[in-house]
Amino acid sequence: MKRFLSARAGGISPSPTLAIDAVAKELKARGENVIGFGAGEPDFDTPAAIKEMAIQALREGRTKYTPASGIRQLKEAVCHKYREQGLEYQPEEVIICCGAKHALYNVFQVICGPGDEVLLPSPYWVSYYEQIRLAGAEPVLLTTGWDEGFKISPELLAKSITPRTKALVLNSPNNPTGAVYSREEVAALADVILNHDMLVISDEIYEEINYTGLPNTSIAALGPEIKDRTVIINGLSKTFAMTGWRIGYALGDREIIKAMSALQSHSTSNPTTFCQVAAATALLDPPREAVQMMVAEFKKRRDYMVQRVKAIPGLDCLNPEGAFYVFVNMTALAGRQIAGRTIQNGDDLAQLFLEKIRVAVVPGSGFGAPSYFRLSYALGFEQIREGLDRIEELLTTAVSPAF
Ligand code: PMP
Ligand code: GLU
Repeated sequence: MKRFLSARAGGISPSPTLAIDAVAKELKARGENVIGFGAGEPDFDTPAAIKEMAIQALREGRTKYTPASGIRQLKEAVCHKYREQGLEYQPEEVIICCGAKHALYNVFQVICGPGDEVLLPSPYWVSYYEQIRLAGAEPVLLTTGWDEGFKISPELLAKSITPRTKALVLNSPNNPTGAVYSREEVAALADVILNHDMLVISDEIYEEINYTGLPNTSIAALGPEIKDRTVIINGLSKTFAMTGWRIGYALGDREIIKAMSALQSHSTSNPTTFCQVAAATALLDPPREAVQMMVAEFKKRRDYMVQRVKAIPGLDCLNPEGAFYVFVNMTALAGRQIAGRTIQNGDDLAQLFLEKIRVAVVPGSGFGAPSYFRLSYALGFEQIREGLDRIEELLTTAVSPAF
């Protein structure tokens, strides 16, 4: 039946982040003692007040179609949220989608196609790459490394722009590296963008999960010219532990939003109605204490995980300033034998961890960095400790030649 698949379908690889999570959940369901460092999904429950709003909305019969681009009440709540950050948007400049992932999918579909290039800082979150290709365009990787703290410079950006460049993808705080761009760094990128006829897609989904002590800078907040060129992507999954609700959104130029809405009207139609109602309440009256508590807990886990990783022979990492991932460099292990198997890269190591010690991690290859793997710390402290103990035990006893 493979012969019936389109060229488009043949070229897509499944999301490795979701795949690893599925393997870990499947093994757990079979009674195996697996530690899942795979999923980028807060382990906290959605705050009770938001759940109550959804229940109330269901009771009130909010169970029918809404306009394809979302209810006005939620668009206004999104505008309210950004107004508090000093950014003025109208409801016509907002679309509600089925998660931020869907908002990104829609935007790539409407802004680019064959012949276009989209600049993608690498390491990159897995889905950008495939979504750009699904739109027929070409992802152009702006490779950053350890020495630059995984952040692109204005020079790298400037020299990567060609007449075919449609947009830059900016994701700060970043998945998978945890890098956070400062206001000055964002401003320097904005200057380059404004010198060219291009857009910037600013994925701000981890904005609240930021340990720098400074507020997150949306590139759109740097002035009206750059705001005109920005499409902001955001959602409720991370901030309010609402991954399964599937509510995300985009803000930007009304022509772009209109095209995204038209596309959505023929694909998913509106995001789930009662989830939209509850999401509006979450944005208008955010449960700040619950969010602060969650971020404080993430910070504790980050500090613990970084210190443990750096103490394990063969592994190293930078201190991530945001999101809930530690991106681990395993270069020192490449070419050695571990438990009798030759390990060349993060894929080999991830496979070995799963088989030998029942620890699930995401290999860096899916993020464009094969000598790395990603650990999520969106899981309970005891589990983190147990998982790191297993990794440490394996890498202190079974590596040859030993360190
Ligand atoms: N952007 C980034 C950088 C992410 O890590 C994720 C992960 N879920 C998303 C977007 C999509 O989030 P969602 O679709 O759950 O809103
Ligand atoms: N974004 C999260 C991650 O990177 C969730 C999984 C996904 O949507 O890719 O793990």
